[in-house]
Amino acid sequence: MKFIRFISENGEKSGLINKENLINPLKQDYINYDSDLKDINFEIEVDNSKSYKLEDIKIIEPVKPSKIVCVGLNYIEHGEELNMDIPNEPKIFLKPSTTTIPHEEKINYPSMTNQVDYEGELAIVIGKKCKDIEANYARDYIFGYTILNDVTARDLQSIDGQWTRAKSFDTFCPIGPVINTNMDAKNQKIKTKVNGIIKQDSNTNNMIFDTNELLSFISKIMTLNSGDIIATGTPKGVGPLILGDIVEITIEDIGTLRNYI
Ligand code: MG
Repeated sequence: MKFIRFISENGEKSGLINKENLINPLKQDYINYDSDLKDINFEIEVDNSKSYKLEDIKIIEPVKPSKIVCVGLNYIEHGEELNMDIPNEPKIFLKPSTTTIPHEEKINYPSMTNQVDYEGELAIVIGKKCKDIEANYARDYIFGYTILNDVTARDLQSIDGQWTRAKSFDTFCPIGPVINTNMDAKNQKIKTKVNGIIKQDSNTNNMIFDTNELLSFISKIMTLNSGDIIATGTPKGVGPLILGDIVEITIEDIGTLRNYI
């Protein structure tokens, strides 16, 4: 099932995309941010009396995370291009929740940097509050998957050593356009295009740590809230963006996340 959040004439709504590619609004958000009791497999209540065409609505971020946990290096060939050693456990960092922007919105080019890079990534959306989860139970806590661009001020990343400044500018986390709740996260083609030219072309089966292993590892450090995001790392082919560029990340069973610089 594919879920989406959007703005219609009646304000912010969440919806389910049906077989005709129309959006049926839901009676309540598909993620319950307030309670850790609700199971992620709760009955989704669809309002079948209404439907919206995708071209008539404005898509917004599919989730409102309290935090975005990112994995620094999770595709072997990306480590080689950055001259980094292959890790024996995931390297993680955080992006603040204030970095997110939706599909079709603009990434700001801050004056503090001279190199803004794209990083196309598969993102896990947490469906249920969790802590200390073993990998073989991780899927029970995942609501679904979406696309994320881990935009990075590459020059500041090397100047600082610490990654916080490089990763945390407002607009540096495009996310969406939809969440797919039932797909094989371990075998998805992932592609990034800049102005229509392919820059990253890989498959999630090239990950060093798979989605369930990542959730397990991170949950042994911090509590993950429903709606939180885990960005699973980027394949090789990262590179700079300039003003006016269009960056598009496509993951087979999710769709395309498009943003403008
Ligand atoms: Mg990244």
